[in-house]
Amino acid sequence: MKSINPITGKTVWEGAAASADDVTAAVATARAAFHDYALTPLNDRVAMMERWGEAIISRKEEIARAISDEIGKPMWEARTEAGAMAAKVAHSIRAQAERAGSNETDAMALHHRPHGVMAVFGPFNFPGHLPNGHIIPALLAGNTVVFKPSELAPSLGDIFAELGAAAGLPDGVLNIVQGGRETGAALLDADIDGLLFTGSANTGTFFHKHFAGRPNVILALEMGGNNPLIIHDAADVDAAADIAVVSAFITAGQRCSCARRLILPTGDFGDAMLDRIKARIADMAIGAPDEDVFIGSVVSEDAAKAAVQFEADLAAKGGTSLVALDRNGAYLRPGLMDVTGVDAPDAEIFAPFLQVIRVDGIDAQIAAANDTRFGLAAGLVSDDAALWDYVRPRLRAGIVNWNKPTTGAASSMPFGGPGLSGNFRPGAYYAADYCAWPQASQIATTPTSPVLPNF
Ligand code: NAD
Repeated sequence: MKSINPITGKTVWEGAAASADDVTAAVATARAAFHDYALTPLNDRVAMMERWGEAIISRKEEIARAISDEIGKPMWEARTEAGAMAAKVAHSIRAQAERAGSNETDAMALHHRPHGVMAVFGPFNFPGHLPNGHIIPALLAGNTVVFKPSELAPSLGDIFAELGAAAGLPDGVLNIVQGGRETGAALLDADIDGLLFTGSANTGTFFHKHFAGRPNVILALEMGGNNPLIIHDAADVDAAADIAVVSAFITAGQRCSCARRLILPTGDFGDAMLDRIKARIADMAIGAPDEDVFIGSVVSEDAAKAAVQFEADLAAKGGTSLVALDRNGAYLRPGLMDVTGVDAPDAEIFAPFLQVIRVDGIDAQIAAANDTRFGLAAGLVSDDAALWDYVRPRLRAGIVNWNKPTTGAASSMPFGGPGLSGNFRPGAYYAADYCAWPQASQIATTPTSPVLPNF
């Protein structure tokens, strides 16, 4: 197994993929470690996670470099990702106490118990931040973990193993299995108690079917979106257009929360918005991670070619290209296409490509925005506070932003959404919920006879 830098073509990581036997052994190791680890005092687990966070801070540059080398992310953004990984520790400790803590009175007690062995699957686009966002809450809650990094970013798997050592995790508590789908399939079939997944809707739906009839296995599925951004009005046309550009093209369009569909009014305001977006695309700084660039490459040349094919298929269906995707190896200068009235597939295109839909009136904009099976992120750009109050409860998405890019999300909030974007187990601050189950007790310090009628 190899991972290749999408920009230089150089090999970044090389190693053996874990076989089915390796996976079974890793899960058995995690299970053997579970009993004692689950009973470790919470304060000890908190201290381990604090050391985990300190280790990230001390290796921040190296982590950012690994992310950037494997997936082509600019260094400024890879550093932000590494910073978010460290910040996750404090958020997770707070969330665990608030949402999955203990509470005892004279008559009642509430505790939370860990599930057992949690399998964690990571996506390539945030190969550090997103698995980290499952692993820390899972470990805090007292679970043991078997983590399979994305096969496109295996270096991060090695780094996670080292973070576990620096944190002082007991042997067997965190196990890494490197590999692609075959390794993943073996992990699905192993003796796990939970699956914490961030990735595409196709994969998540496949996993959901795989675990049908096994209610004892907790599934947390964080999946993609076909996210709409409604721009309705704005005195500051430039700022409104900039919000669209960042929403659609940051991380070269490879964020689950990127806007894929821009819902614009017909008429002069919408036209001005498109002119501004086109100008922004034309002068966008795209290039190597160490340069002053806004975006780097997409994850591979194949991914870039697939985006160009998606664009061609839409054009064949009647889409009007406003700015064509411009591919150079794995680099893509963003594309913009008017698909008003086109039967565009309700699919996530994971690339810097924005579809434009022109309709009249806010109700038509809302209807167009909600015309998707997904429900991850959405946004409204408008100067009108009353319009925000009208639109927000009518948009079916878990993240609904106002005058902010759709890609803005906070670790102090839940992250997830309805429809094909997940299975109602939001992550980020709410990850504490799926990492533990509640145990309710009625208690008395000495036995007393129950007082019941006719007893
Ligand atoms: P992916 O679904 O292709 O892969 C994710 C993981 O699942 C990888 O580790 C992969 O090896 C494994 N996998 C894939 N198919 C498998 C199979 N059949 N059997 C076993 N394992 C399998 O996702 P990706 O391309 O790495 O990541 C991009 C996707 O992730 C996008 O759809 C994006 O929207 C989504 N995403 C969602 C969120 C969120 O929080 N909702 C965040 C980031 C990314």
